[in-house]
This record gives sequence, structure tokens and C-alpha cells, in this order.
Amino acid sequence: MGKASRDKRDIYYRKAKEEGWRARSAFKLLQIDEEFNIFEGVKRVVDLCAAPGSWSQVLSRKLYLPAKLSQDSRDDDPPLIVAIDLQPMAPIEGVIQVQGDITNAQTAEVVIRHFDGCKADLVVCDGAPDVTGLHDMDEFVQSQLILALKLFFPVVTFAKPRSSRNSSIEAFAVCENYSPPQGFNPKDLHRLLEKAGSPSGMDDLDCSSGWLEGPNKVYIPFLACGDLSGYDSDRSYPLPKVGEGTYQSLDPVQPPIAPPYKRALEMKKASNHGIRELEKLSLDS
Ligand code: SAM
Repeated sequence: MGKASRDKRDIYYRKAKEEGWRARSAFKLLQIDEEFNIFEGVKRVVDLCAAPGSWSQVLSRKLYLPAKLSQDSRDDDPPLIVAIDLQPMAPIEGVIQVQGDITNAQTAEVVIRHFDGCKADLVVCDGAPDVTGLHDMDEFVQSQLILALKLFFPVVTFAKPRSSRNSSIEAFAVCENYSPPQGFNPKDLHRLLEKAGSPSGMDDLDCSSGWLEGPNKVYIPFLACGDLSGYDSDRSYPLPKVGEGTYQSLDPVQPPIAPPYKRALEMKKASNHGIRELEKLSLDS
């Protein structure tokens, strides 16, 4: 598919390039903020699974750049934004990058060190648990995730931003008012989940409101967000005409600098080259 037809088919893809976002996902975070005001009063933030960096760009534009420009905040420390991904990403003003696996304790230690003893006000994450295709297993992993959220946050809402296609089951969990169980030790997380996941364990935990009968069953409110009279990610819009009346498609703002598919392309190129050499040899003999 050509760039122009993709621009026409996906308005958020086009608008991301027009507004200088590295990925259309930027609009998802912006629309979640419109509904939940997640950036209010935030000074320290962690962006998990951040590459290629459009959410980090939103954080930089919403938190770091205004503070840098503001006269009043000259004496304050600037907002601290730490972004983590397995992949490296091109620099973003005001964003500290950590390359690592978010499930690895060593990565967590590096992030914690950046916060110098302070806690983060906001954690955003655009990763999801890998699906195995074994439906029972996948459902179990998802329900453990929801259970974990409900144990730590009294207010959990699933949000579907307008820029997330209806044709995709993607949704984002917005978790508010972090309040871990009393005496919580992060090393005990698995034990805690096992306890909450068993019917007898549920009485001991103060997370009963909203629970249904049986383990892992809980109602989570689901909310559409983003301006509902605005752009629909499942619709095609006409391309705007510029200059002589033709539309000029824009290049991506920042292509990934070391995408996982790069090695696959190199291998494919090498194997095509090998096949051509073999063909040449067989023609010569
Ligand atoms: N929010 C990003 C943006 O706006 O540009 C897009 C994130 S992309 C959908 C998901 C990212 O998750 C990928 O860059 C991938 O490398 C990263 N990822 C997946 N598993 C990870 C892990 N265990 N640790 C760190 N990053 C991970």
C-alpha cells in the first residue's frame, strides 16, 4: 500500500506525521488524558515499552517543555521522564532512556536509581502480555493482570481512545489512587496473587468491592474516550490538497533506529544474494 493511500485510510497516521509524532499512538495517550486528566500535577513519570517514542514525545511536550519555558518553574527541578524499551530510540528532549526488559529486576533498579529515592507520580505502559494462542492460558494471564490491578488501585477503568480502531480489541487500563495492600513487599507479588485468586483468600484482602462470585471475576468499567465528534480511526477521509491541488504525502517523523525486523531483512537480502550466486554457478557449469 502506498503512503498516500495509507494517509487516506488512516487519518491518525496522517495527522501524526503532520504534527511531528513518531507514531499514531500519540493520539491514544492524548485522548486518555482528555478524559482522565492524567498529567495534572505530575513531576515524575515512567514510560514503559516506549519505542519508537510517541508517548515519550507527548510526555515531553505536555510536561517537560512547558516547565522549561515557564518563568515560575526556574527554581524547581524540571519534570523527570524515564522511558524504557528493549529497543533503542532516537533522543527526545527531557526524556532519559533506559534500554532493557521491563520484566527484569535489574531494569527496575536502574529506573529507581534515576528517581533518587522519590516515587513516580505516573506510569504509562503501551506493552501488553504476549498471547500464546492457547486461549485458556491467555485468559489466565489477562485475568491475573486485572486481578493485580484491582489489588493495587481502588479505581480501575478500561479506556478505548477514539484513535484506537474499533476493529481492534485494544483497550487501556487506567488505574488511579495507587494504594498497595498493607505491608506490601514487591517480592511477595506472586504469593499475593495466588491468595487473591483463591476464593478463601479473597476475604482477607480489602479489594472486595466490585467482586463477583469465584476467583478472578470482577467488573471493570469500560469507557470510550477522545472527542467522539472528531476523527474516527475506522473511516477514510479525503486527502487535503496543497499548492497546485495535489496532496503531498509526508515521510515518517522518526523511523525506528534498530527495529527487530532489520536483522530479518539483512538475512533475507543475504539469502537472496546466496540464491543468485548458486543460480549463476549452475548456469556456468
Ligand atoms: N508507546 C510507543 C510509542 O508511542 O511510540 C509504542 C510502543 S510499541 C506498541 C510496544 C513496544 O514494547 C515495542 O517497542 C517493544 O520493543 C516494547 N516491549 C515489548 N516487550 C518489552 C519488554 N519486556 N521490555 C521492554 N520493552 C518491551
